[in-house]
Amino acid sequence: MIETEHLGKRYGRIDAVADLSLKVAPGQVLALLGPNGAGKTTTMRMIAGFLVPGSGRACVCGHDVVRDPMRARRSLGYLPEGAPSYGELSVAEFLAFAARVRGVTGIAGNRRLDEMIERLQLQPVLAQSIETLSKGYRRRVCLAQAMLHDPPALILDEPTDGLDPNQQREVHALIRGMARDRAIIVSTHALDEVRAACNRVAILAHGRLRAQGTPSELEQQSRYHRAVSFRAPASALARELLGRLPEVDAVEVDPVDGRITVFPRDGHEIFGSVVKLLEEQHVRVDELQLERGRLDDVFRSVTGDAIDTRRAA
Ligand code: ATP
Repeated sequence: MIETEHLGKRYGRIDAVADLSLKVAPGQVLALLGPNGAGKTTTMRMIAGFLVPGSGRACVCGHDVVRDPMRARRSLGYLPEGAPSYGELSVAEFLAFAARVRGVTGIAGNRRLDEMIERLQLQPVLAQSIETLSKGYRRRVCLAQAMLHDPPALILDEPTDGLDPNQQREVHALIRGMARDRAIIVSTHALDEVRAACNRVAILAHGRLRAQGTPSELEQQSRYHRAVSFRAPASALARELLGRLPEVDAVEVDPVDGRITVFPRDGHEIFGSVVKLLEEQHVRVDELQLERGRLDDVFRSVTGDAIDTRRAA
C-alpha cells in the first residue's frame, strides 16, 4: 500500500534520505525511528507528495506520487510535523473546509465529520479558533483532518508529540483501531510508542535504513535478548561466580537501581544455569526476569546516537 524504492533526497552535500526501500502492507503500522535529522520527515514529505524525490520513487496504493499525484494523495491521509492548520478558523470551520476539499460531502460526509469529531473528542472546542487551542487539541484537529476521507494509507509525523499520557493512549488506540485494513507510517522519538501502536519498525540514521523488522525481531538483536536480571542485596560472590560461567558474557550492575543483569555469550540460553547457581549459593533474589531484549539498546547500537530517554521503553 505504501512503497518506496531507492528513494533519495539531497540538500547540497547532505543526503537527507538515501537509497530507502520500504514496504508497508495493509494491517501494518510502521514506526519510523531515528535521531534528529535522520531523514524521517523528508521521507514522509516525499511519500505525501509535498517534496519531489531526488531519486527513486514512492507509491501509495500503487500510484506513483510524482506521475499520478492526485490518485496518490486521494489514497493518503497526512499529519505533517507540528500539525499545522489555519489558526484563525474555528475547529468546525476548518474541518468543514477540509471535508469540502477532500470531497467528503452530503449526508455521508456529515456523518463522517460527526464520527471524527466524536472519536477525537473535539465537541467541546468546535467553536474555538484553532490558534487558541491547547497543543493536544490542535494535534487532534489535524488528525481528524488527515482521516476525514477514510484513506487506506496514513502518514503520521510525530502524532503524539506534546500530548499528555491520556491523550497519547487515545491516539495509540485510534491508530491500532485504524490499522486493521490500512497501511500506516508513524514517525516518533518515543520508543514506548512502538509497542503501544506499531507492529513494524524501521530505524534510519543519516538518511539511510539501518535496521527493520518486527519489534520482537529488533529486540532480539539487542545484547539484552535472553539476559537474566534480578535484584539481590549482598551477592558479590555470586556475581563473580556467575561471571565465570562459560555461557555468560558479562555481569553488570545498574549504578542507579542496583539491578544485576547477566548477559549471555553468543545468544546462549542461560536462565537455567543462572538460577541453579543462585540456588546453590543460597542467594535470595527478587524480581528475577528473563529479558526479551531492548529496543533502546538496538537503537543506540545502530544509530550510534543518544536516544530521547524521557519516554524510552
Ligand atoms: P527530526 O527528528 O529532528 O524531526 P528528521 O529525522 O525528521 O529529524 P529531516 O527533517 O528529514 O530529519 O532532516 C534530514 C536532514 O535534511 C537534516 O540534516 C536536515 O537538516 C536536512 N534538511 C531537511 N530539510 C532541509 C531543507 N529544506 N534544506 C536543507 N536541508 C534540509
